[in-house]
Amino acid sequence: MIIMLLGAPGAGKGTQAVKLADILNIPHISTGDIFRANIKEGTELGKLAASYINDGKLVPDEVTVSIVEDRLRKPDCQNGAILDGFPRTIYQAEMLDKFLAGEGKKLDVVINIVIDEKEITERLSQRRVCPECKATYHLGHRPPKNGLACDNCGTEVILRDDDKPDVIQKRFKEYHESTEPLVEYYKAKGNLIESRGVNGIEQSLNNTIRALIMRNF
Ligand code: AMP
Repeated sequence: MIIMLLGAPGAGKGTQAVKLADILNIPHISTGDIFRANIKEGTELGKLAASYINDGKLVPDEVTVSIVEDRLRKPDCQNGAILDGFPRTIYQAEMLDKFLAGEGKKLDVVINIVIDEKEITERLSQRRVCPECKATYHLGHRPPKNGLACDNCGTEVILRDDDKPDVIQKRFKEYHESTEPLVEYYKAKGNLIESRGVNGIEQSLNNTIRALIMRNF
């Protein structure tokens, strides 16, 4: 089953995607994580991606689409995948549909995680991530147990460059212009379900699982 998580920056796509991938035992594909790993390793892709990401912009479609297609061709995706942060534009969505059709597959369900924008801004500014193992924290609700040391690996957790306040505003603008139209795109296709991303991770994940069950997924 191919599942996609849609939602504004900071809606909790990544956190839910990790848990769903674990429950369903299928890989989690996050374009954001792929770009950040390349930035960390200093690859050509990383340099290109950083110039867009650190300015709150989307990485160009052709680059992003080919990365995801390559990933989806890998053997571990044969039983499905959780797409997190892809597609983010109508063009990417059309390319994905075409690619999956060519493989005799389809995007089974799109989960739109709905959350209040004010709440997201607060969540992003308080978010800290472990640059090593990718664990995420919220300084208010879910801080690391020991100062700023990651609970899993002890690395110091950091504020993502693109979670800085001026970049957050640009990411929202980009979301409204390029990504939000996907809600109507998938509604028209009939595979969109909504999940309220509120009241912490557990409640949000429950909302998603409930929505999936109600739609017989
Ligand atoms: P995320 O971790 O999903 O919030 O992604 C972080 C940043 O990576 C985004 O703000 C974009 O700049 C870039 N990015 C991630 N996914 C995509 C995508 N599907 N298309 C274009 N840019 C992307």
